[in-house]
Parts: sequence; C-alpha cells; structure tokens
Amino acid sequence: MAAGIPGIHHVTCITGDVQKCVNFYVGVLGLRFIKKSINQDLPDTYHIYFGDYLGTPGTAMTFFGWPTWPKRRTGTGQVTTVSFAVPRGSLDFWANRLKKVGVEHKKVRRFDVDALVLRDTDGIELELVGESSDERFVPWKEAPVAQENAIRGFHSVTMTLAETAATFSLLTSTMGFRQAGKEGSRTRFETGAGGPHSVLDVVESPEGPEGEESIGTVHHVAWRTENAASQISWRELLLRAGRNVTPVIDRWYFKSIYFREPGGVLFEIATDGPGFTVDESPEKLGTTLSLPPWFQVRRDRLDEILPPIVVPTTATTGAH
Ligand code: ZN
Repeated sequence: MAAGIPGIHHVTCITGDVQKCVNFYVGVLGLRFIKKSINQDLPDTYHIYFGDYLGTPGTAMTFFGWPTWPKRRTGTGQVTTVSFAVPRGSLDFWANRLKKVGVEHKKVRRFDVDALVLRDTDGIELELVGESSDERFVPWKEAPVAQENAIRGFHSVTMTLAETAATFSLLTSTMGFRQAGKEGSRTRFETGAGGPHSVLDVVESPEGPEGEESIGTVHHVAWRTENAASQISWRELLLRAGRNVTPVIDRWYFKSIYFREPGGVLFEIATDGPGFTVDESPEKLGTTLSLPPWFQVRRDRLDEILPPIVVPTTATTGAH
C-alpha cells in the first residue's frame, strides 16, 4: 500500500498571454513569481510558476504559455475551478481589492464557508475560500498583499464530470480519499489530514458540455507524494487498478507520473522535492530563465524566441 496523498502539489493551466497572467497572479492576487521555465514537451513555450515565497508544494499555481492555442470551453472531464485558501476574516479585503482593480466577483457559501468566485485573465474560474491554515505557507515579505490577508496556497480543486461512479471508486478505494460531504450535485472528498490543501470537489454534470483543452482551462492537477520511493508505489498501485500511468518523468523541480482518472481529468503525482530552489536561491527565485541541465544547450535560442516577462513589484501594484 502506498503512503497516503497529503494533498494538492500544484495546479497547471493554459494561458494565452503570459504577461497578463503574471500581472494578475502577482499584481492582483499577490502570489510570488517563483519560476520562469519552459514546457519540457514543447520547449519553445513558457512554463511559469506562482506560489508562496518558496513555491511550497500545496501553493504552486503554474501555467503553460501557449498563445497560439484556441480558446474553447471548459466542461466535463476537467478541473473547472481552482480554489485558494485565504484567512477567514479577509474576504472583505479581497472584495474591495478586486472591485478596485475591476475584477468581477460574487460571494458564495459552500459547506458553511464563504468564498468569492472570480475569473482570471484567461477566464479560468477561481475561488478565494475563507478557510485557511498556515501549515504549508512560507510568507513572501515583499508581497503586494499584506501577510494577514495573503493567499495561503490552495484550498481545493473542483472537477466536473459527466459520470462519477468510477472516479469515486478510484478516489476512495485506490487513492485514499474519503467522502467528506455532499451539497446537491457536488461531492466533497478529502485526503491526508483534511482541510485546506487536501480538498477535492466533484460536480456531476451528465448533460455536459464536454471541456476542451485550450486557453483558459486547467491542464492538470498534481497530488503530493513524499519521495521517489512512495511515487513508485503509487505507480504500481495505479497500474494494478487499471490506470494507464506514464513512467516517472524528471521535471527537475520534482519527479512526476501522470494518468487520467476515469472521468477524463489528467492527474499527476509529484514528489515534494527537490523543489524550486534546486537551481536558484530563495531570494532569486523567478529572476532568470531556469532550464533543466538537459535543456541548457538551447538557452541562447530560447532567450531569443521567448518574449520578455516583466514581474510587477509592490511599487507598481499600489497599496496593500
Ligand atoms: Zn504538473
């Protein structure tokens, strides 16, 4: 039996405009730009990472920058909402901040917790959920949002599925998730110690529409595993459960395996280490184009073709 999954590792989405994306996640949401790298499978495109000060697993929101891709629709077979954890008393601050910068939002209440629903610059649905823990949060002292209100990493992800039975079975029988609640068509699961960072909501939507991988959609969600050995155990267990799992792939910042859950959502299981400080010191994170050693030979060409990214600073994004 593989060791249990403690929670979310990272979430990866597709943006059509890297600069606007950076302006939003750093300038508006106050996350740190922690890594500028490339998509290892399409290495002439960016893979950019936001997170807490170190990009601690459980805080890293990442994007493939694919400007030439179409913009289609979100729907079944996808993660349709990414939820961030914010301190319970901070929702008024966030509502005011979003209003000030012209980001539409509305308040919802789920499982007795208040949240704000908004969209990012590519149309990805986000939530700021007023339920947080500091357990996986290393504060960034220069953040454009004061620490008392800052995003604490992920709260949860929501998947929308046409059919849920096989997914529920995989989650609970193989992956160690437990059902934690139900509200209408939404079923909540938790893993590990439960609470923020460990929550997965599944919304059943038999009528669709089916989502299409495109700009403004979530590409995959990665779940944490402790180390390379526990990852191998997961791979064997998932293969035995009939999943088509990739070999272990070295992503340089962590090692990864990928498979689709029965509802069509791409899952990754990623190791906690070595982390984003493998090639940049904590204070320098995100300041250079970071390339795994096996891509270094392409550096000159990549510097030429990848558009520059300007990371906003506190000074350009206004008061707390
Ligand atoms: Zn990933």
